[in-house]
Amino acid sequence: MKKFLKIASVVLVVAALVTAFTACGGKQETEKKALVFGTNAEFPPFEFVNSEGGTIDKFDGIDMGIAKKIGEDLDMETKIENIEFDSLIVALNNGQVDALIAGMTINEERKQSVDFSIPYYTAVQVMIVKTDSDIKSAADMKDKRIAVVQGYTGESCVKDLAEKNGGYNYEAFKKGTEAILELENGRCDVVVIDSITAKNFIGDKQDLKIVEDSTAFESEQYGIAVKKGNTELLEKINASLEKMLADGTIDNLAVKFG
Ligand code: GLN
Repeated sequence: MKKFLKIASVVLVVAALVTAFTACGGKQETEKKALVFGTNAEFPPFEFVNSEGGTIDKFDGIDMGIAKKIGEDLDMETKIENIEFDSLIVALNNGQVDALIAGMTINEERKQSVDFSIPYYTAVQVMIVKTDSDIKSAADMKDKRIAVVQGYTGESCVKDLAEKNGGYNYEAFKKGTEAILELENGRCDVVVIDSITAKNFIGDKQDLKIVEDSTAFESEQYGIAVKKGNTELLEKINASLEKMLADGTIDNLAVKFG
């Protein structure tokens, strides 16, 4: 009986140790802190849903490649929350996400409510029109039906034109794809949107073309946003971005997804 008790206790101790080890191992796995990025996966080639599997879960694109690398540099697990573009800043300030990576243009208005990283990409607004359109400059959009995406910088550009000159009538859509559909179906004459996304939306569509007007649209720079005052995270993100800008990671991602 004594012997049995001895064996039993050894078995118990071993079992306890094994449990402790596996629990410990499991714990380490789940304890890798998560870095949660908010994005709006409607903005190819920066972020879009790839149903076959993307860079992070089902999310793919230049920004997703950048987010993943930042997570690796910080030894954190990168997670993505897909949120409407218009609600991203609110989600950040609510603490729902740690940072925003969404092809987001750095501008004074947004700087009032978030802190931005160093710029990592330069873009410009362009106009998408039907191939046979007579719109050749931003001024030609006057009295035409303009489509923009709600909350994008394209909307503020058109709003500015409207305030300065009058006669610019626009409608704001929730998604870039919706605006493009309106154009293709002849329900609007022009879509104003970021350059690289415009190219992506047109793809091989023969009936659409891009019109640029550098005098009307200034270049814009994309940045990652963090909650105001979160300098600890911002510095880490900036260090990671600097490395990616210097070693060609971002250029390579742009080629891969562009
Ligand atoms: N660059 C534009 C902006 O910041 C559009 C960004 C986006 O749709 N993801 O408003």
